[in-house]
Formats: sequence, C-alpha cells, structure tokens
Amino acid sequence: MSADLLIVANRLPVDRVTERDGSRGWRRSPGGLVTALEPVLRANDGTWVGWPGLAEDGDDEAYEPFEDDGMKLVPIKLDASEVEEFYEGFSNGTVWPIYHDLVAKPEFHREWWDAYVRVNRRFAERAAELAAENATVWVHDYQLQLVPQMLRELRPDLLIGFYLHIPFPPAELFLQLPWRRQLLEGLLGADLVGFQLPGGAANFVRLVRQRVGHKTHKDLVYLPDGRTVKAAAFPISIDAAGFEELAAGDGVAARVKQLREALGNPRRIFLGVDRLDYTKGIYARLRAFSELLEDGRLDVEDAVFVQVAVPSRERVEQYRILRDDIERLVGRVNGDHGRIGRPAISYLHNSVPREEMAALYRAADVMVVTPYRDGMNLVAKEYVACRLDDDGALVLSEFAGAADELRQAWLINPYDINGMKSALVEAAEADPKDLSRRMRAMRKTVRQHDVRAWADAFLAELSSIAGSSHDKQ
Ligand code: UDP
Repeated sequence: MSADLLIVANRLPVDRVTERDGSRGWRRSPGGLVTALEPVLRANDGTWVGWPGLAEDGDDEAYEPFEDDGMKLVPIKLDASEVEEFYEGFSNGTVWPIYHDLVAKPEFHREWWDAYVRVNRRFAERAAELAAENATVWVHDYQLQLVPQMLRELRPDLLIGFYLHIPFPPAELFLQLPWRRQLLEGLLGADLVGFQLPGGAANFVRLVRQRVGHKTHKDLVYLPDGRTVKAAAFPISIDAAGFEELAAGDGVAARVKQLREALGNPRRIFLGVDRLDYTKGIYARLRAFSELLEDGRLDVEDAVFVQVAVPSRERVEQYRILRDDIERLVGRVNGDHGRIGRPAISYLHNSVPREEMAALYRAADVMVVTPYRDGMNLVAKEYVACRLDDDGALVLSEFAGAADELRQAWLINPYDINGMKSALVEAAEADPKDLSRRMRAMRKTVRQHDVRAWADAFLAELSSIAGSSHDKQ
C-alpha cells in the first residue's frame, strides 16, 4: 500500500464498535474533517493514519490496516501508559491549556514529553513507510507537532503540510514550554504550516525569528538549508450544505415541535452545545442566565436554557472538577428558579446524534457560544447553517475564531458577565428584521466558506509550493 496523499491525525475518522453478535467492527465518526477530506482522499488514492481511540489491549485485529467505504485507514497503536502520558498528559494537560490562553494551569512533566516524542516518532515512521515517492502528507493538530520534522528527516522527497486546529499562542505563553524550541523545529519540518487565524501564523513566525533565529519575511521563514516554510491562515468550516439538508428534513421539523412542547413551549429557548471543557465558558454563561432570572430580566415562565455538555477527557482532574462545578450550579439554579415540569436549565451530559443537534439548532431562539478561547468553534457555524428561515440570534465570544467571520453575531467578552447578560437579553428581544438581516449575512459567509473550500485552499497552497520549489531546481 503506497499513497499519494496521506492524512496523519491523532484520531482515525472511525470508532471501534461491538456488534450485536459480539463481533467487532468500525463505525464512521461523523465530523467536518472527514467530510472535507473524503473526496480528496478518494481522488488521490489516499490513506488516513491515526489512533483508533482504544486504550485496551487484546483487540489486535483493530490495528490491521483496513478499508472503510472506499477510504484506506491505518491504525496506530498506543498502550495505556501512552494514552495517559502522550494524549491526556502532554497533549491535553500541557499543550491544550497553554495554547488556550492559560484558562487552566498547565502541567509540565518530563515523562509526558518523552511519551509525546515517542508517539510522534511512531506516527512519522508509519507515514514514511506508507507514502509514495513525492507524495503529499497532511499532518493534523497539536498532538503531532513533531511529526513534520521527523518525517522530513526520514523522507526528504515528501511535500508536507501541517494544520493546527487550535489557536497558536503569543510568545509570552508559548515560552513557558520547556520544550519550546523542539516544538517550533518540529513544525518547521513542514512546507506549509496552517493556522485558524492570521494572528496564530504571525505568532509562529515571530517566535521562529526571535527564538530559533531564522530569517523571515512576512509569512515566510527561510531555513539555513535553503528550504522555505510558509505560515498562513486557513479558517476551518463545516459541511454547510450537509447541515442545511439535515435541518430541512421532515423528521427534524417534527422533532423541533416536540422539543418546544417538552420544554413547556417557552417564548425563548437559549441553547449551548459544547464539549465539557474549561475553555468553553459554560459555567459563566449559565451564571449569567441565572442572574438574569434573579434580576427579573428573564422569567422562568418565559425562558429556558438547554445546555448539552458532551463528556470529554473525563480522566483529567480539571475536567472532573469543572463537571462538578457546572452540575452544582445547574442544580442550584433549578432549585431556586425551576417549577415542576419546567426547569430553568435543561442539562444533558451526553452527546446527541446529528439529527437531534439539527433539531436543537432549529428550536433555539438564541444560541450561546461563550468560550474564553477557541480555535474556531464549529457549533456557531452549524447553528447559522441550520437557520433556514434566516431567524434566530447568535451570541458569540470575541475569543472564538468564528468571531472573525461571523461579525453580525452579538459579540461578547465572556469575562464580562454584565456585558454577557445584556447581550443575552438584547438577542432574545431583538427585532425580527434585525435578526434576519444579521442571519442572512452570516449564512452567506458560512455557505461560501465551507469545509470543502477550506481543504481545497490548503491543498492548493501546498501544491503551489511544490510547483515553485520544482521551478527552482
Ligand atoms: N457535536 C457532536 N455531538 C454532540 C455535540 C457536538 O457531534 O453531541 C459536534 C458538533 O456538531 C461540532 C463538534 O462536535 O461539529 C464540536 O466542534 P467545536 O469546534 O464547536 O468544538 P470542539 O469540541 O472541537 O472544541
């Protein structure tokens, strides 16, 4: 098996499942990334390399390369201690908080770093075996920042792209990392390093100039060996047409009605949908909502907040503490303000299927997205795509990448609870004409910049780099 296009990401786009008869198989995990990459993978005889998300041993068959619906998938094995040290540890306990504005305190452990290097090397070695001569390899995200350099050493013929799905922090934060230089050099193994926003690309180039000492000009880094690395922004998006189609389905319309009734037909439904992560500002938004009930600016007869909190990283202590805090708050607010059959906050600690998500998006009058820092926030874009009647209001943190494009949202600072409260009330009471003007503009943006356009733009930029270095030879 040798591929002209290789996707290297921490996770494969499938989950391991046990069928009714006890046999084990794979189920495609839905997501924008796979929707965007599937056609390009098919057209280029592509392969996806990643971890299947398993921590247990004894399922050796799960690590055999396989085909799923025309896509070639190659699993990488992690043992239990690597899941703990590489994934939960260095990736999510060190890099994640530093890259998200230090919303939580990062931990630094040398054994976590060692596991990160070891696992990155395993991904790089596997990719080096699989890639055809002069193939394109697209490496994804913060778990694999060393792969570009490791891969280049093994296979200098390859064209290597890297895309960071989360923010890239300013120097003051990045420099806390004891392994800062290794991480920068790891990324510099790529020909093209993609970020969500221009600010991330600029932070990277500045750090490379100041800390590694390479010459730079605008978005280009010149390496001593004559190679050039480009750093640029490619804001990611969603499968907008797919969401519109889903939202337009008959089942969804019926479900919207059911949902509204089940919630007691309130005048206004507020909605939050997030992984239960401390970057998302869930606690602050629920506090703002509860204060509005206390102040009498919202009435529980009138307004309900639906919060979907998808379980996430539950073995990491900060996530367990956050869950306890949020659930204590929900209990208190419902105790203080709820009535029988009418909670103030309807809280789910679960993931919901895509159709149900579309129904929730359609049922919600006000979508509330309040992260302290977020690379993009796809939920905000999905809400917009699902508002087929150009109505509904989006309250959006200015610290989400999506705020750069969705300028017509009610933009808020999640650290400013009073500002957030005012925005919630304004959004809930907005004039329908104002809502429709804002939503139309946002829908146009999301439709034009969908996830296919994102993948095409990144790959086109990468192949133009291949073209220009070829010209020079
Ligand atoms: N999502 C999902 N099931 C759920 C809740 C959310 O599949 O129950 C999806 C949601 O549709 C979105 C993604 O998870 O595509 C969340 O992406 P986002 O960028 O908002 O946040 P992230 O979790 O990547 O930080």
